[in-house]
Amino acid sequence: MTITYELGKSLYVNITNRCSNACTFCIRKEEPTVNGVDDLWLEREPTEEEILKDILKRSLSQYDELVFCGYGEPSYRFDEICRIAKAVKKAYPIKTRLNTNGHGNLIFKKDMTPQLAGVIDTVSISLNAKNKEEYDELCHPVFEDAFEGLLDFGRRAKEFTNVVFTIVNILPEEDQEACRKICASIGANLRVRTYID
Ligand code: SF4
Repeated sequence: MTITYELGKSLYVNITNRCSNACTFCIRKEEPTVNGVDDLWLEREPTEEEILKDILKRSLSQYDELVFCGYGEPSYRFDEICRIAKAVKKAYPIKTRLNTNGHGNLIFKKDMTPQLAGVIDTVSISLNAKNKEEYDELCHPVFEDAFEGLLDFGRRAKEFTNVVFTIVNILPEEDQEACRKICASIGANLRVRTYID
C-alpha cells in the first residue's frame, strides 16, 4: 500500500481515496498512479500512526515540501492531516501543503480552517471553473453549494495560511481572467497549471 510517494522534489502523502467530486478529467479513471510508479489505490485508509511512521522513515531534508493529497480528497481526514503535519514539523521543519478541492468545511459542516494555522504552510485549492454552473458540470460535486463553499473555504483559510487557487491552462483566456478576478476579490493568488493529458 503506497502511503507516501515522490514527485519532483516533493513528498506526497496518499491519505484517502474518498472524494466529494467526480471530475470529468479525473486521472483516477485512467491511471492508478500519478508518478508512473506507485499504485495509489489504497486497500484501506492508513491509520494516522502508519502515515506518520511512513513519512518519518524518509530523509526529509531531501524534499522541498510535504504535500497532503490523496487519490481522492484529503480533507476527509482534516483533523488527522493537521495533527500529522504538526508532528512532522516537530521532527523536521519541512514546508507543508494541502492540495484540496476546498470542500473541507462542507464535509464537516463547520469551519475547519483555524486548524491550519502554524501546521499547513500553503493550501492549494482547485478552482477549475469561473462559476457554479461550469464547476458543477465539470466536477459533479456531491454538495449543492460546492463552488460557493470552496470560495468561502479559501477566504477563511487565508486568515491562517497562504492560499493559492488553481486552474489549468486549457481554459479560454477570458475564463482565466474571470478566475483571476474571483481570486483577487478574495485576496488569494491564482496559479495557472499546465494541463497534462
Ligand atoms: S477532486 Fe481530484 S480526486 Fe476528486 S474527482 Fe476531482 S480530480 Fe479526481
